[in-house]
Amino acid sequence: MSPEEVKARGWKELDIILITGDAYVDHSSFGTAIIGRVLEDAGFRVGIIAQPKWDNPEDFKKLGKPRLFFSVSAGNTDSMVSNLTPGLKPRDKDAYSPGGETGLRPNRAVIIYSNRIKEAFPEVPIVLGGIEASLRRFAHYDYLSDKVRQSILADAPADLVVYGMGELQIVEIAKRLQAGEDIREIRDIPGTVWKMEVKAWKELKKGKKTAKEQNGQEQDKREQKGERESISTAEGMARDVAEGVAESSGEFFKEYIEIPSFSEVSQDKADFANAFRKYFMEQNPVTGKGVVQPHPKTVIVQNRPMRPLTEAELDHVYELPFTGEAHPFYPEPIPALEMVKFSLTTHRGCFGGCAFCAITQHQGRMIASRSIESVLREAKKLTEKPDFKGIINGVGGPTANMYAMGCKSWEKKGACLDKACLYPVSYTHLTLPTN
Ligand code: SF4
Repeated sequence: MSPEEVKARGWKELDIILITGDAYVDHSSFGTAIIGRVLEDAGFRVGIIAQPKWDNPEDFKKLGKPRLFFSVSAGNTDSMVSNLTPGLKPRDKDAYSPGGETGLRPNRAVIIYSNRIKEAFPEVPIVLGGIEASLRRFAHYDYLSDKVRQSILADAPADLVVYGMGELQIVEIAKRLQAGEDIREIRDIPGTVWKMEVKAWKELKKGKKTAKEQNGQEQDKREQKGERESISTAEGMARDVAEGVAESSGEFFKEYIEIPSFSEVSQDKADFANAFRKYFMEQNPVTGKGVVQPHPKTVIVQNRPMRPLTEAELDHVYELPFTGEAHPFYPEPIPALEMVKFSLTTHRGCFGGCAFCAITQHQGRMIASRSIESVLREAKKLTEKPDFKGIINGVGGPTANMYAMGCKSWEKKGACLDKACLYPVSYTHLTLPTN
């Protein structure tokens, strides 16, 4: 997007600027296009800077300073997956760049883009999103360096990570900032990750311990005296202070669990596996708890996942006015668009539970589906495009035949975290589409 395009829309400034490592394609298969259209639909003025040069901050300044925040994504895939083969050789083509050109995004794009933004506008909040930020939200194994790395939020100078499908989170963040809330106080939105100071974490832990000790000591005293006398005023005050800390601590630990720290998981494979298992078990928007992972200089706090969109919400998102085209600025086609241009999304999520697949960590195990009417309306629009050749190439989601499937248990329990969805058949509560 250019400053002239911003002016042409009659805007003097932007509310939000989205930065992406992909070329800009206004199609619902591209995360930045969805987030941009959803924010625009919610009434915000949105600008997009695609594939900025990252060796200095100038490209990040070209649309001015946004009134609310920058949102940063590496693009539809992790930047290192876009740039490198599994053998760590440079790829000869980047499917998300014009003409498949390579070298238009850096490795670790989210961290590098965030650093450039901080240099350009140190006071503007930064929100991370997309696959790269989402799947690197806790300490994680990094294939390129062959090491366990810290959470991306510990490495990037950013304020929040939106993980999973981000429409509901990003609009809520924008509304809160618009209402004057400080981004450092936005701590309760499901599907987001934030940073806590190490000192505050230690206080919370101390409060938890104090409450436990206090309860234990009082119990002991009563048992020793064998009577139910009221405790002295001094003891009462001490208990009240302890309970004050313990109260907030107690509330916090009702909602959040702690997993092994970065220091632990980077040194011990069993701790790494244990941490993964623990946060995997909380990937449930209905019963899941938040997850805390201490790092040396900060503490990473993940709120429970955001709920999936309803059918009406999903219909609305996919029927926003996407042009389905790449930005006219590009002289050559974007290969990734050619693959999906005449395809459409019918649903999100998968309960397949394949061990190697990260879809659960991003789209979740509960299926969210569009209505048949909405899918048909989009199909009709595709057939009206001048370059339509008579075939819609793809209709589906992560697993095409899970369209409109549901489960009687999802409303109260969310999706089961074991693999019993599909087998044995007599155990399953799955419901199939009725039409
Ligand atoms: S999306 Fe495919 S690979 Fe991933 S869990 Fe579902 S069935 Fe398995």
